Amino acid sequence: MNPRADAGVRQQTRRRPPLPPTVDPVNCRIHRGTNEIGATCIELEADGSHIVLDLGLPLSMAAGPGVPLPRVEGILARKPDPTLLGVLVSHPHPDHFGLLPQVADHVPVYIGATAGRILREAAFFSPMGLDIEWAGHFEHRKPFRLGPFTITPYLNDHSGFDAYGFLVEAGGRRLYYSGDFRGHGRKKAIFHQLLRKPPEGVHVLLLEGTHIRDEADGTEQGPSEMDVEADLIDTFRDTEGMALVIFSAQNIDRLVSVYRAVIQSGRDMVIDLYAATMARATGRDTIPQAEWDRVRVYLPRAQRARVIRERAFERTSAVRPQRIFPEELVARRSELVMLFRASMCREIEAAGCLDGAKAVWSLWPGYLQEPSGERLQRWLHDRGIPMVVHHSSGHAYIPDWVRLAEAVSPDRIVPLHSTAADRFDEFLPRVERRQDQELWKV
Ligand SMILES: [Zn+2]
Repeated sequence: MNPRADAGVRQQTRRRPPLPPTVDPVNCRIHRGTNEIGATCIELEADGSHIVLDLGLPLSMAAGPGVPLPRVEGILARKPDPTLLGVLVSHPHPDHFGLLPQVADHVPVYIGATAGRILREAAFFSPMGLDIEWAGHFEHRKPFRLGPFTITPYLNDHSGFDAYGFLVEAGGRRLYYSGDFRGHGRKKAIFHQLLRKPPEGVHVLLLEGTHIRDEADGTEQGPSEMDVEADLIDTFRDTEGMALVIFSAQNIDRLVSVYRAVIQSGRDMVIDLYAATMARATGRDTIPQAEWDRVRVYLPRAQRARVIRERAFERTSAVRPQRIFPEELVARRSELVMLFRASMCREIEAAGCLDGAKAVWSLWPGYLQEPSGERLQRWLHDRGIPMVVHHSSGHAYIPDWVRLAEAVSPDRIVPLHSTAADRFDEFLPRVERRQDQELWKV
């Protein structure tokens, strides 16, 4: 069922007058995201038409169902509003697409082709997915037009796959929205290309600043994706029993890091059906696939129940030759690295394969302070399973972040996606802070 089907009924309470007319050709309103990480929503208006860049949930998923849509004209209208030309989703993370299920069906939504496939396939397994009709897809550095806007997507190095920044041109004005990016992942070559050949003549740079925090001093460097791979190799070699790695199935860079570390430590990798499906959705033969040597697929109870409930048996048949069952998990525990989730605790313990096990937390360490993270740590501790953290941020550390701003060299920099937007001007010139909802000229 399409979750957007009943969205139109709410329009009565959401109507507001269109953006006021202006002599200047391009207006911007950041509905949300100037003072927080996530919930990003940017509206641009030119010549009576408008587009929306991202439509995200606040970072805390707990806030999900109750979050109201930003008041964008036409986004809930029963009939198509010809002035709303589209919503452009920079990448498949909920803090950028999570409000789309509330949007009226007829609103055109654009995303990268692979990102769209990832979300569609993820929808079977997780609320982190989304199955809608996409109006079109981005190609790296290929401009396209929507009314008065010319949009050029720039592929980003980010933990979310198929992520983009956007150069938006209209009425002689140029705005570059950085999207979420880093310079230390498996696509760092793309970041370096962006530094060498940045969008030119940019008036306004909307810049994400995840690592600009109250305590940041500007010199912080953290582990790169390649450092994570090296740390994983050491840990896998150093683990007597099974290595349990907790990471996001949609973090394809991390899947590659784990696989490469598995091979270099002489082990085999056990992924679940969700991760196998995500790898296939990338459509890339450079990404580890279920049918590769040294890769096996375990079907956790929750996923098995879902397959049965939805009668989606083609999903299990597709991986039948690669399936691994509890007896083999026990017998070969010292040769395996397993993608692990908190929801698998009971069955893995019941299988009896935890002797000598070690856990690797390979997600944002902040989640460990949340109740579910604390519960998992207690569970591991009670069973004498040590845990180490090997993680690399999906966002640029400050030195790379400064490099991007200097390469683009815009007239003005508007902070976004940060908990310390008031500190941007300590690191960069020409910073101009904006507030949520404020209407301003590009
Ligand atoms: Zn984000």
